[in-house]
Amino acid sequence: MKILVVEDELKIADYLYKGLTEQGCSVDLAHDGLDGQHLALEIDYDVIVLDQMLPGLDGLTLLQSLRAVKDTPVIMLTARDRVEDRVRGLQAGADDYLIKPFSFMELLARLQVLTRRGRRQETTQIRVGDLTIDLVARKAFRQGARIDLTAKEFMLLTVLARHQGEVLSKTAIAELVWDVNFDTSANVVEVAIKRLRAKIDTPFGGGLLHTVRGMGYVLEERPA
Ligand code: CA
Repeated sequence: MKILVVEDELKIADYLYKGLTEQGCSVDLAHDGLDGQHLALEIDYDVIVLDQMLPGLDGLTLLQSLRAVKDTPVIMLTARDRVEDRVRGLQAGADDYLIKPFSFMELLARLQVLTRRGRRQETTQIRVGDLTIDLVARKAFRQGARIDLTAKEFMLLTVLARHQGEVLSKTAIAELVWDVNFDTSANVVEVAIKRLRAKIDTPFGGGLLHTVRGMGYVLEERPA
């Protein structure tokens, strides 16, 4: 089992690292939210243990950016007196939570349940009309032809595809695709959409990536 632990309290992080490694898990540690986000997006873990209060980027924001592109099971670690955080965590797509302090055996049991569930629900492909996105191979195809995309373009396409039929504002897209600490202007989103459209739509006669004036963008199949 490949696990990412995002926890800034070194004592807890060490304790989890030792315990999980002893159980035969392969564990990566991140001590702040930005490192955690980077690893969570780059590497496919079986499960992520995510502390809610983190320096750099809080656990909730990290979870939201992860959920835009991946279904990796996430268990959140929360403080006892922060009930509203747990609710927000679950709403943002956490699969489970544990209240600190927790016992290692309880965490282990929850992790085992989550990884079984995770494998069952795994989505490996998204289709929008004649466009197919392979989330495992990180490749996109339209009408059988491979579309060459940069990592950011692939992420942008995946975000739009996960919300297919929904209009996403430039702000929403910027938050989901770009680092929240990176000052993304609306223009950056416009330029990226234009590039993506030139790759996924224009060569195939259009029909998928639409601009909704004054609102944003939507990916959906419409007759050209
Ligand atoms: Ca913390």
